[in-house]
Amino acid sequence: MTPSRSACGAPPQGGAASGPAEPDPPQPLDCATPRDGSLPAADALLLAQVTTGDAAQQRRAIAKTITLLESTRADHRLRADALLNALLPHTGRSFRLGISGVPGVGKSTFIEALGLHLIAQGHRVAVLAVDPSSSVSGGSILGDKTRMEQLSVNESAYIRPSPSSGTLGGVAERTREAMLVCEAAGYDVVIVETVGVGQSETAVAGMTDMFVLMQLPNAGDDLQAIKKGVMEIADLVVINKADLDEAAATRARAQISSAQRLFHGHGMAHPAPGAPEETPGRPKFPPPPWGAAGAQSRPGGTIEQWQPTVIQLSALKAQGVDTFWQTVQRFQTLRAAAGQIAARRQRQDESWMWERLDAGLKARFRAHPGVREQLAPLTAAVRAGEVAASVAARRLLDLLDTH
Ligand code: GDP
Repeated sequence: MTPSRSACGAPPQGGAASGPAEPDPPQPLDCATPRDGSLPAADALLLAQVTTGDAAQQRRAIAKTITLLESTRADHRLRADALLNALLPHTGRSFRLGISGVPGVGKSTFIEALGLHLIAQGHRVAVLAVDPSSSVSGGSILGDKTRMEQLSVNESAYIRPSPSSGTLGGVAERTREAMLVCEAAGYDVVIVETVGVGQSETAVAGMTDMFVLMQLPNAGDDLQAIKKGVMEIADLVVINKADLDEAAATRARAQISSAQRLFHGHGMAHPAPGAPEETPGRPKFPPPPWGAAGAQSRPGGTIEQWQPTVIQLSALKAQGVDTFWQTVQRFQTLRAAAGQIAARRQRQDESWMWERLDAGLKARFRAHPGVREQLAPLTAAVRAGEVAASVAARRLLDLLDTH
């Protein structure tokens, strides 16, 4: 299969890491085609197997592609970039669902129940994880136990644990790319799971169409304990373990609902993370094959907006999973009809690019020989109050203009 799009400026094979590099010639604006016009044969085969291979071939090809994407070797990265760009036209047709919650809230139990429910309806489900704790503690919260036993052996499911090292930005980057690979392989529901630590919720909300926060039945008793920022980005809150104490779950639901009304204001849809404003545009992606009905017009002709919602369920007993999915479909229908899913993805792609640019520029800055020489003495001078911070920053930045 010939890739329909390919990488920007990929050098001929073997040219990646050899010798002192000559500065890259300026790339033409339309840099979607590599210089040699195609992927290396092995990667063209991977592309074909990911997109059209039989189940076993596809599974192996996805794993190989993701491994290539996760490699830190410069020559691998160039191949991975070319492959990723070639996969791009095959992506975008899934529904991307983010799920977060503290360890023990029941995420894996719920994802297993939901995944099996969706597969029974004919969907293919990929489950990815963002677990930056592994880079801090050396152990992974989302990887230390056997999780999702039935789903992991199901032919229609693909489960990938969190990339095991790197900063949150790096882990999120790898997960975004893995998501694209899964989409190209035809998984039409991609679930990205994360633990409620650090900033990982924001990262996951920033790569998914809908962000779900899982809570325990006693959550309403201590609303202070729920990070306000996380509540603000949740499109849907799920109170799990309702079977343990139905009354507590109902109370939590009421309390969280009223807190959400305060956070979001009356009748206002909240913007997606990293997105100051909603600008409905023409959808870039065709809506997924489910729930793609037209806008829900209210009497008077206004279009109904999604309001953040709270539901309660029992993942263990698989009770309420169907209601959960109906709620998700309703979200998808309302948002897709208003062009908001496509708009959110466009903003996410743009902020992903900027996030990577920021990280890349900082890395290059730190690696610059002049900066390496001057950074420590200038930092010391700033700390000693001898040089103003802004002056030091300018001096360091000016060093980039010297070779
Ligand atoms: P995770 O750390 O968020 O992935 O949580 P797990 O899915 O591993 O669940 C933690 C524990 O809670 C396990 O012992 C589950 O069996 C249990 N659990 C999960 N969901 C429910 C539920 O709905 N009701 C009850 N009673 N227990 C549950």
